[in-house]
Amino acid sequence: MDELLERLIESNRHYTTAGKLANYIPELAKANQNELGIYVVSSDGRTSFAGDCQKNFTIQSIIKPILLLLALMDNGEEMVRSHVGVEATGKPFDAINYTDQTLLSEHLNPMVNMGAILLCTLIKGQSYSEKFERLLELTRTLAGNPDITVNEAVYQSEKRTGSRNRALAFLLKSQGLLSDDVEEVLDCYFRGCSIQVNCKDLANIGFTFANRGRRPVSEERVFSARFAHYVNAVLMTCGMYDGAGDFAVRVGLPAKSGVGGGIMAISPTRMGIGIYSPGLDQKGNSLAGIHVLEDLSHTLYLSVF
Ligand code: GLU
Repeated sequence: MDELLERLIESNRHYTTAGKLANYIPELAKANQNELGIYVVSSDGRTSFAGDCQKNFTIQSIIKPILLLLALMDNGEEMVRSHVGVEATGKPFDAINYTDQTLLSEHLNPMVNMGAILLCTLIKGQSYSEKFERLLELTRTLAGNPDITVNEAVYQSEKRTGSRNRALAFLLKSQGLLSDDVEEVLDCYFRGCSIQVNCKDLANIGFTFANRGRRPVSEERVFSARFAHYVNAVLMTCGMYDGAGDFAVRVGLPAKSGVGGGIMAISPTRMGIGIYSPGLDQKGNSLAGIHVLEDLSHTLYLSVF
């Protein structure tokens, strides 16, 4: 497996420079575009890796499935679904869809920003800093890494420049869908996006979703199998922005990408996969990362279709 991963990294490395670094969050534009790494955790307990898999990067939108999971764990499926629906929007993650359709809970999706911002309000906690601490703690538990922390520079950069997310949050507020203080809610969201991880962390988190809520090796249950089904289904249809359909055809796995260049992919019952390469395609997905996943999926017959 290590050999296969090495080969896939080397044969796809040329794609790293074809992508574009995210620059709307200024701090993300400082990434090294040549980096490409992968880490795989398999159901037999084996781990394999290649390339720049030890590099740290911010989780960005890959926090969304964890936010969704925590909201489900805190409130149950029915309550979450009554606030944030599950239908794909087919639009970019930060699109303001209001002109196309009346803004209703069922039009909100947990994998795009508006839905994810609203999910922050559903997390249990006395304050938004307590809500965030619980989100960070769950991320650490899923990754099996107590040292995971926030990248302060990215957090400050996002907070300073997040006008579009502010617009989305105020739109929710104007519709009566969000009642708390917008800055406090966004602070939780921005901090969540700025959590720093590496490929191994993403592979471990992904494995727990693949393993129906149980952690690798110890098989300790963190959440119910039902919630794993729920999150995996949402990831399959909406995890890769408005490129989810193309990704389903090419790779065929539930996955979530982030503009930091990470991808967490889930092969149900078989493996969790973490990938990093910060050059993005036009939809905001890691360009080289998708190519590596596509080859891996073909080689190991991972597509669920
Ligand atoms: N923090 C980013 C934003 O809200 C996350 C976007 C992403 O990774 O898709 O703009």
